[in-house]
Amino acid sequence: MSSFKSDAKSTSTPSGKNGFKKENQKKGKGIFHSHVPSDISLRVKALETVLTQKKLIDPEALDKVVDRYQNQVGPQNGAKIVAKAWTDSDYKERLLKDGSSAIAELGLLGQQGEHMVVVENTQQIHNLVVCTLCSCYPWPTLGLPPTWYKSSAYRSRAVIEPRKVLKEFGVNLPDSTEVRVWDSTAEMRYLVLPKQPRGSEHLDEAELSKLVTRNSMIGVEIL
Ligand code: FE
Repeated sequence: MSSFKSDAKSTSTPSGKNGFKKENQKKGKGIFHSHVPSDISLRVKALETVLTQKKLIDPEALDKVVDRYQNQVGPQNGAKIVAKAWTDSDYKERLLKDGSSAIAELGLLGQQGEHMVVVENTQQIHNLVVCTLCSCYPWPTLGLPPTWYKSSAYRSRAVIEPRKVLKEFGVNLPDSTEVRVWDSTAEMRYLVLPKQPRGSEHLDEAELSKLVTRNSMIGVEIL
């Protein structure tokens, strides 16, 4: 059986026979102009060209937005929230009770993540986040969604067979653990509060935040 064990730190990517495509397969060395961009890339490019020609958008402003979400906003924001919750029980309580307000306390609430619900992973409950309709994702806390998150395979299978999907990500849960799948919408986005790794109790907030991965906050990885 094919599996796609998550790369803990970066853009881990499921691949193989499970219907997911490698998100990084065209990155790095070996990129030639003979490669035909995907249909969606061509459509986006065409749309961008038309809107630019009609002076409805400024390409420089667009670049700034892309740069912001690619390089400045990312899972490190979510990791800060998680590390704070691990070290401050009062904050954790506020976070689970009213995610939006608690995230706003850290100045990390923003567009595409205005209404946030934080769900806690425990020994008894494992939470998994998906957007079955499209690709709603908490941008201000996790950055841009990974390609596999947007794939139709993940969007459908996460709901139909979550345990199997989790297994393919390398997450093997005992039968006694309940799996809860949260379907994101434009109005409501979810962040998983992962379980703190064993043996990390002595670390401070900054050190703990380095242990938190994007995938653990989507629910497809256990730290
Ligand atoms: Fe969506």
